[in-house]
Amino acid sequence: MLKNPRDGLTDKPLEKIAELKQLGHPLAYVGDVVGTGSSRKSATNSVLWHMGQDIPYIPNKRNGGYCFGGKIAPIFFNTMEDAGALPIEMDVSQMNMGDVIDVYPYEGRVTRHDSDEVIASFELSTNVLKDEVRADGRIPLIIGRGLTDRARQALGLSDSDLFEKPQAAEDSGKGYTLAQKMVGKACGLDGVRPGMYCEPKMTTVGSQDTTGPMTRDELKDLACLGFSADLVMQSFCHTAPYPKPVDVVTHHTLPDFMQNRGGISLRPGDGVIHSWMNRMLLPDTVGTGGDSHTRFPIGISFPAGSGLVAFAAATGVMPLDMPESVLVRFKGDMQQGITLRDLVNAIPYAAIQRGLLTVEKQGKKNVFSGRVLEIEGLPQLKVEQAFELSDASAERSASGCTVKLDKEPIIEYLNSNITMFKWMINEGYGDVRTITRRIDEMQKWLDNPELLEADADAEYAEIIEIDLNQITEPLLACPNDPDDIKPLSAVAGDKIDEVFIGSCMTNIGHFRAAGKLLEKLEEPVVTRLWIAPPTKMDEAQLTAEGYYNIFGRSGARTEMPGCSLCMGNQARVAENSTVVSTSTRNFPNRLGKGANVYLASAELAAVASILGKIPTMDEYLQYANDINTMADDVYRYLNFNEMENYTAAADSAFPVKVA
Ligand code: SF4
Repeated sequence: MLKNPRDGLTDKPLEKIAELKQLGHPLAYVGDVVGTGSSRKSATNSVLWHMGQDIPYIPNKRNGGYCFGGKIAPIFFNTMEDAGALPIEMDVSQMNMGDVIDVYPYEGRVTRHDSDEVIASFELSTNVLKDEVRADGRIPLIIGRGLTDRARQALGLSDSDLFEKPQAAEDSGKGYTLAQKMVGKACGLDGVRPGMYCEPKMTTVGSQDTTGPMTRDELKDLACLGFSADLVMQSFCHTAPYPKPVDVVTHHTLPDFMQNRGGISLRPGDGVIHSWMNRMLLPDTVGTGGDSHTRFPIGISFPAGSGLVAFAAATGVMPLDMPESVLVRFKGDMQQGITLRDLVNAIPYAAIQRGLLTVEKQGKKNVFSGRVLEIEGLPQLKVEQAFELSDASAERSASGCTVKLDKEPIIEYLNSNITMFKWMINEGYGDVRTITRRIDEMQKWLDNPELLEADADAEYAEIIEIDLNQITEPLLACPNDPDDIKPLSAVAGDKIDEVFIGSCMTNIGHFRAAGKLLEKLEEPVVTRLWIAPPTKMDEAQLTAEGYYNIFGRSGARTEMPGCSLCMGNQARVAENSTVVSTSTRNFPNRLGKGANVYLASAELAAVASILGKIPTMDEYLQYANDINTMADDVYRYLNFNEMENYTAAADSAFPVKVA
């Protein structure tokens, strides 16, 4: 259940759980930090399975359970809610393995068993949580409440007073943030206040292959025969390169299941869920996905567990307690050699310097946890670049992320994506009606391109300003915590064994940049270098431009487009190796057993692969300056509407006739 030993829970966790159960009390799962951004239904399932209770007459499913944490990652928290468990954020420093405690959910306190000694106080995140526990989960509650309302309306009765009503959020009378406006628009309102319960319309929903089978089961439980969400997409990026027999079955059966309900199904080998789904988004709309990195670069998403993803896909809405927002505002000019990945790392770095974030797990502070991270000050980024920023909001444990962009990059992106969609139809992808509908919606936006903007007097839980003039060296996340950010000079010289350039954090520009540096080598690199482009379109273009030849000559191991090493339980780096990776997270043992992993830009990773160590600033700049002189050629993005092989295919497929 846990990849790493915990205090009092080492090599035989199941025996320990059995031993604790002998005490005769329900077990609670307690941690300083529970989940970090991720922890989907599979994690919740483990807690339910070992600490929950049977559901009468329903075999192989359990519900209930208790989870207490100093910080509980939003997706973990929500999935516990969906399962009828009781998750509570509180100070758990007085709780140790094997303690017996009394929890008073109505009074908001925890005492030592049979004593008055209060060891923690808390407030439930919402009063509706009590109903969710009573109803055995948030989804049964929403369905039961909706049916009750409709039945009472039909009978001419007043609203039921049986249910806890969400507390009305305080209206400060101030303006709205961008996220609050986007969610408001999805609810037919000008904006929603933090704390307000709402059910925004889900315009785009994503499902990936490790959670897809669970989502399929949940869809069956909901008797869903057709999706109400406008676009649902299924990917196969996590399991395609090294599938187990069970994955192969999923590859064969899940596409039809999704397409029969109106979803779009990708194919094994196509690439990473987000690099595809981002290209299917509409500006200023709301969505979700069963992958914690579902972090739209345009619009906003609130990633969720497979139960809620199924609910959103089936019903077209999703329950949401609107979180507060933290604004990160960049100002100044990017300095020489600094990349967007350094700005990703600059966000936790700035928060640490202001005392708003701590690296230490015990008593961890994290200003972003459970809040929406809203980013301003880089409006001309390409949408592919904006995703680097929004993607990493998962590592901050933020519930969602917005990036304020100008219209121009979005117009460019949508024009490219319309061609991609038409090419997909020509390539035999379905569901054609869904693809066609989305093309129409994209065109409608392009005909009148308007974007929402935050009000000048919008309120934020915190505002963090980052002066780009002050970031003069690359910033790396150090082993093994994405929050542990240090400047290059603090870690230069550390020996590097392996380098990974890939994951949803990368785009084609990163591979060209690496290729330009590798091209000059006369010998293969001294490290083990892994290259995995995010999509098959990137792979094809890099091949056409000769980069695969360079990668081959430099001794790189090229992987099928997809998650590759980032996924963590397929191909792995060598035990106890030291690695520079462009992937999203460097939690202990994720890339390889005992591996020490630095997270850095593709540019810095490429230099490390050549030198076999983390470069000094001078060494790095020599290479960075080289790339700089070729920047226009290197940092070009996939504009399908300007690529003949895609436009020709698109023209022959469109307009389509749908029976
Ligand atoms: S590349 Fe990594 S972070 Fe991105 S979707 Fe795949 S496993 Fe998740």
